[in-house]
Amino acid sequence: MSRVLIVGAGLTGSLCACLLRRELQSKVHIEVWDKARGAGGRMSTSRPPDSLSHSADLGAQYVTATSAYAQSHHSLYSELQSCGVLQPLDAPIEGLKHKDGSKDYMTPLGMGSLVKHFLSQSGADLSLERHVTGVFLRGASWEVQRTAGDSELFDAVVLTMPVPQILQLQGDLGRLLSVQQQQQLDGVSYSSRFAVALFFPPDAVFSFSWGARYVSSNRCICYISNEPGKRNADSPGLGPSLVVHTSVPFGVEHLEQDKEEVQPIILKELYQLLPDLPQPISIKCHKWRYSQVLTSVPDCPGHMTVHDQPPLVLAGDAFVHSNFDGCVESALSVLPALTAALPR
Ligand SMILES: Cc1cc2nc3c(=O)[nH]c(=O)nc-3n(C[C@H](O)[C@H](O)[C@H](O)COP(=O)(O)OP(=O)(O)OC[C@H]3O[C@@H](n4cnc5c(N)ncnc54)[C@H](O)[C@@H]3O)c2cc1C
Repeated sequence: MSRVLIVGAGLTGSLCACLLRRELQSKVHIEVWDKARGAGGRMSTSRPPDSLSHSADLGAQYVTATSAYAQSHHSLYSELQSCGVLQPLDAPIEGLKHKDGSKDYMTPLGMGSLVKHFLSQSGADLSLERHVTGVFLRGASWEVQRTAGDSELFDAVVLTMPVPQILQLQGDLGRLLSVQQQQQLDGVSYSSRFAVALFFPPDAVFSFSWGARYVSSNRCICYISNEPGKRNADSPGLGPSLVVHTSVPFGVEHLEQDKEEVQPIILKELYQLLPDLPQPISIKCHKWRYSQVLTSVPDCPGHMTVHDQPPLVLAGDAFVHSNFDGCVESALSVLPALTAALPR
């Protein structure tokens, strides 16, 4: 049985695992490793330390399907809607510029539930807090090293983390990339921003009714989400919380500062924008060094094959574009590249 390792339990990695399982069923053993404490990557949903009734999306907020993607990814959209993971976004979003024919969806249990759905469907062995540090070609296998110093052998490896993190890996990857591939990867760029989640007492009441609001006139804050409001009334018992995203210029200006230093600046701006806001019981701040892809790999190939046999494939939103459908395109493109190289 082939042993496949997928590095990264974000949307691309979890959907790759799910598609591979559906294609090869019991003929493949799939492992998914992620350095984080939870699955989701940039689609993760966070909770405060002492509350099960609060949750907030620190990264991706909702899914926008263009009419073209609604058609080409129809089966995934129907699957996610039929099991309740995805529902139409009905809450008012102030300042949202609707594109013709596109449709917005929200996740009643948070964006992380999208990733968890595909992971659970994949039957893959998920290992969290497993930080990959290098990939080494050993005959017909890949030896994958992790921070703890130990390593394991696999018949195929798919790397789905942001490109700068892929390029930091030790081992044979750099040597195997062609000059053109190296140039294409070097050209990938990302925006950076901070996200702050504020969790409020269960009886806190907001003086606004929007589900989310785009802020155009603030140098620090560009977006605020009222988490229970955004998820409609379909999340009964969800405690009140807000998520704030900073603008990209602010993110770039403060990128090298600790998030503890930057959090008070963001909160001060927030309370100036929303002076009636109650006091939170818990706050979580996250720095997205690699937030959304600004420049993707030219011609959006979906993935990059670094080595055919044994296969080493790079994937993720950088190979298409930065949203739900970009990750789906990437995962769909990985499948034939991988199955062609694995015994059936
Ligand atoms: C603030 C923000 C807002 C966004 N808003 C939206 C939105 O509203 N709608 C939308 O569709 N998209 C949105 N996006 C984009 C969307 O979140 C991404 O396109 C998508 O989540 C990327 O998924 P991925 O699996 O390709 O990468 P990731 O989610 O980044 O997954 C990569 C995983 O690899 C892991 N990893 C990294 N290095 C290692 C290592 N060395 N060893 C092991 N594991 C490692 C990481 O922990 C991570 O879990 C937003 C993103 C951000 C940050």
